[in-house]
Amino acid sequence: MTSKASDVLRYCPSLPSLPGVAVRILEMGRDPDVNIGALAGLLAKDPALSSRMLRLCNSPLYAKRRTTTNLHQAVMLLGLNTTMTMALSFTLSDLFSVAKAQKSALERVWKRAIVSALASRRVGERAGLGSLDELYLAGLLQDLGILALHAAVPDRYVPLLEQYEDHARFASLERDVLGYDHGEAGTWLMRHWGVPERLAMTAMAVHRLDVDDLDDEQKQLVYPVAIGGWLADFILSDGTVEPMESAAESASTWLGLAPDGMASLVEEILSDLPEVAALFEMEVVSQAMAFGLVDQARELLATRNLRLIQQASEHHQRFIEMEQAADLLQKAAIHDALTGLHNRRHFDQILDVEFALAIDNAWPLTLGFIDLDHFKQVNDTQGHVVGDAVLVKVAGVLKKNLRERDYIMRYGGEEFVVLLPGHGLEAALKVFERLRTAVEETLHVGESGGRFRITTSIGIAAHMDGEHRFEDPIDLVRAADRALYDAKRSGRNRIVVSTQPPSS
Ligand code: GH3
Ligand code: MG
Ligand code: MG
Repeated sequence: MTSKASDVLRYCPSLPSLPGVAVRILEMGRDPDVNIGALAGLLAKDPALSSRMLRLCNSPLYAKRRTTTNLHQAVMLLGLNTTMTMALSFTLSDLFSVAKAQKSALERVWKRAIVSALASRRVGERAGLGSLDELYLAGLLQDLGILALHAAVPDRYVPLLEQYEDHARFASLERDVLGYDHGEAGTWLMRHWGVPERLAMTAMAVHRLDVDDLDDEQKQLVYPVAIGGWLADFILSDGTVEPMESAAESASTWLGLAPDGMASLVEEILSDLPEVAALFEMEVVSQAMAFGLVDQARELLATRNLRLIQQASEHHQRFIEMEQAADLLQKAAIHDALTGLHNRRHFDQILDVEFALAIDNAWPLTLGFIDLDHFKQVNDTQGHVVGDAVLVKVAGVLKKNLRERDYIMRYGGEEFVVLLPGHGLEAALKVFERLRTAVEETLHVGESGGRFRITTSIGIAAHMDGEHRFEDPIDLVRAADRALYDAKRSGRNRIVVSTQPPSS
């Protein structure tokens, strides 16, 4: 809590004080030996409170099987905790009654407190939480700070209250203008009164859900109260979308409650409401408005559901598209666009791997450069389009004449590279001879429909074959390239085997 909120409240002479009955109830709450007789005796001293407790006990909210007119019996039927909680809530409600008489903005706050209390209780019930009375009280007291600030700094606070429309926005307005919000003020006041700490801290926590580091026990109180607050906002704002969205979203993520169950939750709260409002002597929501609200909640949640389903499928679709795009990019990165063969980049990676594998397993690896002969002339006489078609066709022929296990890549231009793992020079020579012949025998169609052939020169070098060993993959590449150069120089359309001595 900022020191500001406590400073303002600590020295405030007009701070609301806790009614004597409430003080005694809180004291009893701390006494482990408290008994029904003592509590009934205390309540009996306040006739107004007694009659409200009896009405509560006989109301559908605590629907007990028999009607009672006996306070002692009522306390027994309700149980100690419920009696104390509800008695406390009645005495506290009197704090707001002054404001009620003034018809000020505080009346709205008090209505929110009542609806929040019921809603928090119902949310807790749905989530299977234990302390429903505590939830009721925590919901009721979450905005007590507004009362405190209204009493402590009326000059600054009343103009602020006039701007109250949306609860969450109001709290942030308070923080902007005052430097603290009514949640902090409420927590301070409750601690000052000796209200149990669990209840006191809830007021602060529900208004600062983003910053508070809550333990599991606190969450059981804070989460239902926060959700209860939004449901109250939905009900009291005559069905605004935003608070219902927050309620449905949070009920699902925090408490695992199905979002479409929210409409029936609203229905339950609304059915509790007239009875409780009567106990507090006010009408919170009219019957006509209540009917419309449940329908509105249903409609809103159905739309939300549809939108979520749509969003989920859009996300899925986008994910697939991104995967496909990534896949395409990955493919494009290692493939040659014209021939569809793997490219130089892929070759470099594969060569490193196969080079090491050959050493580790002591098996041979032969590398061959295949370069088309006088290809420039094809371009010059037939044009680039035919040149491209030749490259594509040759690539296909080469691939077809290799095994799945062998590698063929376009090294660049009209130059291909073939890697034959497990092949020494002797075996590789047969393969390259097959490739050379296959290319030579292939007919290409020229620009004007004429047929022509193209030949290749091939330079090969072996690694891990007898005394042919290289230190580095690049040496193997250089040896094959030099052999290719020799093949060109000695007349083309032939294979030259590297006679490179073992690397020195
Ligand atoms: P050599 O027998 O000595 O290899 O002669 P060459 O004409 O084949 O060799 P050179 O290196 O002089 O020319 C290669 C030609 O290959 C030049 C270039 O325009 C052509 N070329 C490279 N890539 C492509 C391509 O993708 N498409 C087409 N149509 N031509 C290409
Ligand atoms: Mg060439
Ligand atoms: Mg060339």
